[in-house]
Amino acid sequence: IVRYKDVKKAFGDTVVLNELNLDVKQGEKVALIGPSGSGKTTIIRMLMTLEEPTEGTIEVDGEMLWHKEVNGKLVPADEKHLRKVRGNIGMVFQQYNLFPHMSIMRNCTEAPVHVLGISKDEAKKRAKEMLKKVGLGDKVDQYPSQLSGGQQQRVAIARSLVMQPKVMLFDEVTAALDPELVGEVLEVLKDIAAEGDTTMMIITHEMDFARDVADRVLFLDNGKIAEAGPPGDVLENPKSERLQSFLGRFN
Ligand code: ATP
Repeated sequence: IVRYKDVKKAFGDTVVLNELNLDVKQGEKVALIGPSGSGKTTIIRMLMTLEEPTEGTIEVDGEMLWHKEVNGKLVPADEKHLRKVRGNIGMVFQQYNLFPHMSIMRNCTEAPVHVLGISKDEAKKRAKEMLKKVGLGDKVDQYPSQLSGGQQQRVAIARSLVMQPKVMLFDEVTAALDPELVGEVLEVLKDIAAEGDTTMMIITHEMDFARDVADRVLFLDNGKIAEAGPPGDVLENPKSERLQSFLGRFN
């Protein structure tokens, strides 16, 4: 459902990703691990249309993100096209950024009503279902400040799911949380993963979680996928010294 083809990303003279070729299947859960600065966030920011690839193409569900085909030629996509394809992708960040002056319910219904154009009733129905799924069915009328960080991050996850994206991106969603709140958020992600149909790309430093949830783990190093495979291979039997020493930091 996601295809990166010969993607390169440079900021000025600094090449942060090179020759990235990656296919992610419908429903697949892919964990991205690697040292700080290895290019993980850039990979998913390009998918969220927040960064433009310097070279190469990215497709989601058969549709190019950054290019349009006109008379058999690839031309850069316009803002309208970007907006449309962005609707297929949901992203949850380290910072949950809920609207503080809106109830939990409204936080989850604003975008579907205003961006997707669905009715308020339908949005509320979806939001209730998703908030229940993340274990916050009883908090719909509360405000973000009344919730813990872990609960707020779970709202942010529900808010993304309400949009029914084809692909969900998670960028270190537990990194800003107090250690005792990390588990509840990872449990929610595991539940969503276990349902099976959502395609997920997950940047994480939680290796046990990656092992539990991922079908495939990618080790990013110096802007390249240095090792890739099932968690049992990549995390248990790392081939390169770089990956061995990276994993050594988590033991
Ligand atoms: P982390 O785990 O710290 O988030 P990462 O693997 O996600 O790291 P990226 O955030 O993708 O790494 O960054 C890769 C490299 O690109 C870094 O060296 C970073 O400094 C650089 N970079 C990212 N965004 C920009 C930008 N807008 N301008 C210049 N350089 C950037």
